[in-house]
Amino acid sequence: MKIESLELPEAVIRFYLDSGIEELYPPQAEAIEKGLLEGKNLLAAIPTASGKTLLAELAMLKSISNRGKALYIVPLRALASEKFDRFRTFSSVSVKGEGNGGLRVGISTGDFESRDERLGSNDIIVATSEKTDSLLRNETSWMQEITTIVVDEVHLLDSANRGPTLEVTLTKLMKLNPGCQIIALSATVGNAYEIADWLKAKLVLSEWRPTRLQEGVYLNGNINFHGSQKRIVSRTKDEAVNVVLDTLEEGGQCLVFESSRKNSVSFAKRAGTKVAEILDKPTRKALDELVEEIIENGETEAANELAKCVRNGTAFHHAGLNSAHRRIVEDGFRTNKIKVISSTPTLAAGLNLPARRVIIRSYRRYDPNYGMQPIPVLDYKQMAGRAGRPHLDPYGESILIAKSYNEMTGLFDNYIDADAEDIWSKLGSENALRTHILSTIVNGFATTREGLLEFIEATFFAHQNDTWGIMDVVDECLDFLRNHGMLEGEDTLLPTVLGRLVSTLYIDPLSGAYIVEGLKKAKAEYITDMTLLHLICKTPDMRQLYMRASDYEVINDIIMARSEEFVEVPPRSKEVDYEWFMAEVKTALLVEDWIKEKSLDQITKKFGVGEGDVHAFSDIAEWLMHSTSRLAGLISPEMSTDISSHVALLEKRIHYGASSDLIELVSIRGIGRVRARKLYDSGLKTVQAIKSSDIDTVSELIGPKTARKLFEELGIASGLRPSGSGEGLKSGTMS
Ligand code: ADP
Repeated sequence: MKIESLELPEAVIRFYLDSGIEELYPPQAEAIEKGLLEGKNLLAAIPTASGKTLLAELAMLKSISNRGKALYIVPLRALASEKFDRFRTFSSVSVKGEGNGGLRVGISTGDFESRDERLGSNDIIVATSEKTDSLLRNETSWMQEITTIVVDEVHLLDSANRGPTLEVTLTKLMKLNPGCQIIALSATVGNAYEIADWLKAKLVLSEWRPTRLQEGVYLNGNINFHGSQKRIVSRTKDEAVNVVLDTLEEGGQCLVFESSRKNSVSFAKRAGTKVAEILDKPTRKALDELVEEIIENGETEAANELAKCVRNGTAFHHAGLNSAHRRIVEDGFRTNKIKVISSTPTLAAGLNLPARRVIIRSYRRYDPNYGMQPIPVLDYKQMAGRAGRPHLDPYGESILIAKSYNEMTGLFDNYIDADAEDIWSKLGSENALRTHILSTIVNGFATTREGLLEFIEATFFAHQNDTWGIMDVVDECLDFLRNHGMLEGEDTLLPTVLGRLVSTLYIDPLSGAYIVEGLKKAKAEYITDMTLLHLICKTPDMRQLYMRASDYEVINDIIMARSEEFVEVPPRSKEVDYEWFMAEVKTALLVEDWIKEKSLDQITKKFGVGEGDVHAFSDIAEWLMHSTSRLAGLISPEMSTDISSHVALLEKRIHYGASSDLIELVSIRGIGRVRARKLYDSGLKTVQAIKSSDIDTVSELIGPKTARKLFEELGIASGLRPSGSGEGLKSGTMS
């Protein structure tokens, strides 16, 4: 089917032709035949890189040309940016007819307690599923104007922690905009028809790929495919390294999936020593530039570790990397400077980063309850599917590694020739339901118990299961919400002011209950930063650090020494709860170090985490401290002491990772905590002091480039003595 034959605005057709796309891929053509451009709901369950995004674009552009508005829902923030960048390439295309301007695209991933009303002026809005849920909770008005919803990676309905939110969000959107077109994009899962049925969508199910994928198993020096075999030259003892070298010799790149961060780092190191030997001069030079960039953007020893690998043409990739390093590694691989990335499986679910060959070094993953377990077929298919770069590689290969003949035949049966599993709704548990029941009532989607049942009947859970069992769980949730003052009434369910606030803050009602209880109990004379940090680290919304064997004694001593700082008496050391308590305290200690300006290098070493983790922990802690601040404002008459200002200050300190004395300086755009500390310790303690200083003094402290930027930011011509005060601050952080 030709792009030219589609009923789309001329400008859109020209855009695609100009980018070299003339003919639709078979699954795209099937989608058109099934009503994609006529507003029909559609589920496309097709492999990665087979043109899902383009298919969604066609539907969105058609809808926008008819004065519609599209919402594109993704599971991860990183994916939101990737899609945002892609859709922005349409900004010069007059989709809405000549004279109506180009397409406008917005992205919404930030702050949960906001409506982002201004985003309503866009034609396409990209948002994560959590952010979409929070926009609905905050009753954002443009939500009702949406005419096309795209749900990327809809098979994540199966995920225990993200699935329920996606499911409830979709159910709400369908109720809010009954005529809206839904385009769901999915990996090929066992029961795609069931999801399609739930969404009242036509199904496009296909294994078609633009680049051929060969799946094989390596054993004793050979890669075995169905019907063929390839001999791999043995150059090192590590067989996976031999497979990597073979790929590079053929001019390809490699993605290697490992089961843990530690293994991904050690493989990148090991492979690097061999890969370095076959790099040509221009590549080495290009890699040296990347190395400099990595060092410039790193504050920990991990940067040196990564730099060492990259100098050799390899890299590791996992959630512990900071965002600059992640970007450098991804771009370096896309531009074929970095030849090998060894990664944890998270990369497979995330970015679009294909390679000629994918090596799955471990098909087992650690499970805290059951030890090492084989991964699901769906995960294998997601990883294998990364092999083969469309338009660049003649084919892609994915390779599993076996140690014995039996293991190899097992791998063929259980992965290569196996179908992906069915996916199952995870909405049925109290932990998943509590928060969604509250928001469903707050936003008026249900006002009675019967109304709630009706709402649940519309979910994917009810599509797969009988609902009689779930009503017991619903009643438990209702009791919980009533007992904690978030809900009133028996026949008519009425949210209280507290209930509304908890819902819009986007925290679990259990977190809300813990925080409120803690704030009421806290006694002025014992309140420290730790009191409040431990309070938020105890909530189910906080991600918790694991306890390592070496931690027990240290954390135990800290708990004993600081026992008065906690709002509750610590459990006895023999109680099961004590293990949890220790993990909460350990997490709180990490955030405490962060706001005491401990260096990232110190924190990452002490807690055994990466830079990316420290930022992730502080992001969640900031959001929970913000929630604590809002809750404290609401319940202040019931508190024995007013700690609102302490909480508000902590929120800022977590945001900047700084002590209280630095808040004024770190509020200036471009000044981080390290530079602010240098200025402060040299006597430049306030914006006014900097303004009264001169550029040379400031340059000596923070470098001439940043000093110039700082002076510009403060509205001072460099070198001139400034006057006035207050300009150039980040919004609203100064009094
Ligand atoms: P997915 O979202 O399934 O990973 P994309 O839609 O991003 O796939 O497509 C992958 C690549 O294939 C992109 O570079 C895209 O431009 C290209 N592509 C998609 N559809 C076509 C087509 N019909 N003809 C040629 N190239 C296409």
